[in-house]
Amino acid sequence: MMAALTAAERGRSVVLLEHEKFCGRKLRITGKGRCNVCNDCDVKTFLRNVPRNPKFLYGALNRFSPAETMAFFESIGVPLKTERGNRVFPVSDNAHDVANALERAMKRAGVKLVPSAAKEVLTRGGAVCGVRTDGGEIACESALIATGGASYPLTGSTGDGYRMAASLGHTVTPLRPSLVPLVCADDCCAEMQGFSLRNVTLRAYDSSGKLLFSELGEMMFTHFGVTGPIVLSASAHLRDHARENCRLEIDLKPGLDEKQLDARLLRDFDKYKNRDFANALGDLAGRAMIPVLVRRSGIPPETKVNSVTHEQRRSLLSLFKAFPLTVTGPLSLDAAIITSGGVEVGEIDPRTMQSKLVPGLFFAGEIIDTDAYTGGFNLQIAWSTGRLAGNHI
Ligand SMILES: Cc1cc2nc3c(=O)[nH]c(=O)nc-3n(C[C@H](O)[C@H](O)[C@H](O)COP(=O)(O)OP(=O)(O)OC[C@H]3O[C@@H](n4cnc5c(N)ncnc54)[C@H](O)[C@@H]3O)c2cc1C
Repeated sequence: MMAALTAAERGRSVVLLEHEKFCGRKLRITGKGRCNVCNDCDVKTFLRNVPRNPKFLYGALNRFSPAETMAFFESIGVPLKTERGNRVFPVSDNAHDVANALERAMKRAGVKLVPSAAKEVLTRGGAVCGVRTDGGEIACESALIATGGASYPLTGSTGDGYRMAASLGHTVTPLRPSLVPLVCADDCCAEMQGFSLRNVTLRAYDSSGKLLFSELGEMMFTHFGVTGPIVLSASAHLRDHARENCRLEIDLKPGLDEKQLDARLLRDFDKYKNRDFANALGDLAGRAMIPVLVRRSGIPPETKVNSVTHEQRRSLLSLFKAFPLTVTGPLSLDAAIITSGGVEVGEIDPRTMQSKLVPGLFFAGEIIDTDAYTGGFNLQIAWSTGRLAGNHI
């Protein structure tokens, strides 16, 4: 949409093919329906949030930065606000407003919307000459493939673009889920399903024990493992490692060091000195988690609080500071916010988004092998690469 609008504003004759009933189906569900449009940060900060092929995006971001993106959306009638972590949302908290504004702007610029599926990009003498759709052929001098990733296929991003790019000779690097819930081997996750943790620190380690990720925030247990904002972020850091047997640790009390937590435990134990140990943790842990903590501590639940030994208290303390979980892998691509992998960046000119292999062929958005963390960065990649492509078509 961004590329079509930009090219049309430059006087190009543009046809936008969309095989869904309406444009921007995925866009309309972003940010839990609120659309985290972008992140109000400078380009350097932005690129630090792009773990995969950040250098490729340098030109696109400098030509259409988050600041320019915000000005653009305000100019097409979407007032914006900035929240925690510089995340930018429409004031209306409604993702449809972003998609509808883009659609209106496209119509004003003269983009012709055609409700058809693109099947193949046609070439003559090695250069683009048309597109075959399920409704026939359209002759054109340039074609942009912006079909998105392969995750959430019900929103229309079914991975068609990868096949079209590959059939034109482009390399498509392996597709993997990112920003995705993690499956854990531990039965306790199912036992605590639906239970959320706020203000905890999640740490992730590879199988050799190297720390890969550490972040404070919110997460949730599910029947298969864990999900929630910090888990999705962690998944992006784990993807280049064998995710099997990655280890997670949850610091349930990041605000207290071990000494402070021990003092706190002693205070609670004194307060509840006549209770069974299992009934003395209510001030420190959520109800759903207590049976799991008790079991994992190895302390018999009926032990009287005043007879818990120093060693037993230490094992409880280490559970609070480093509750362990074993990751067996990510949930499938269908459930991922982002597809990692895609059209090899070395085959795309970063100054124009034009294919280096097929003159007249352009790429934009998630189909390209670059992706980012949560926070509005992925949509920004789509806006910036779309703008750049639209300016060179
Ligand atoms: C649940 C969820 C929430 C998200 N929230 C955020 C967020 O708040 N902020 C953020 O920055 N990112 C978010 N993302 C990521 C972001 O939505 C994507 O990175 C972004 O939409 C990619 O844009 P795109 O234009 O490349 O692809 P898409 O938005 O997927 O658009 C591709 C379009 O191409 C169409 N299409 C595909 N194949 C064909 C074909 N053969 N013929 C015709 N049309 C075709 C599709 O129907 C679709 O409309 C979220 C993703 C998900 C799944």
